[in-house]
Amino acid sequence: MWRAIKIFMWWACHHWLPTMAYLAKRGVHTNGYCPRCQKFLETMVHALWGCRELRSVKEKCHSFNGFKGSNDMHFLDFILGWLRNLCSTELEFLCVIFWRIWFCRNQMIHNKAGVDNRDVVKWASDFIDEWRSISQVDTLPTSGSVPVQNWTPSVDGI
Ligand SMILES: [Zn+2]
Repeated sequence: MWRAIKIFMWWACHHWLPTMAYLAKRGVHTNGYCPRCQKFLETMVHALWGCRELRSVKEKCHSFNGFKGSNDMHFLDFILGWLRNLCSTELEFLCVIFWRIWFCRNQMIHNKAGVDNRDVVKWASDFIDEWRSISQVDTLPTSGSVPVQNWTPSVDGI
């Protein structure tokens, strides 16, 4: 998987991403509530999956619909629940979706236009397709050496 997304998931699983609940716990001036729905504390699980404002994303992810998580569970436990039920391709897709959700959330907080939760699933699907088509070209066998990855995705989703 992509380096930036791996780093993002590592941060999420350690609850190091600056959700509002995280910031409130560390004394930053915020009530800790979700900037999208304003109804629940913005925990890691809430920010990336639980928020009701993400229902348009979940409606388009039929293979992920069976899993329920609570907002206050640890994100690592949340991910372990998925690991038992999804194949690696589905997990990869889910990680890109989380990454994009976090990017859209940050854009919304900073009042930047042009991103919409409704586009998350299509964006993630296009991203994976594009990466696969590029990596097929870039990873053609090169006299037994390790394939060189010439393209890396932007890290601005973090
Ligand atoms: Zn919310």
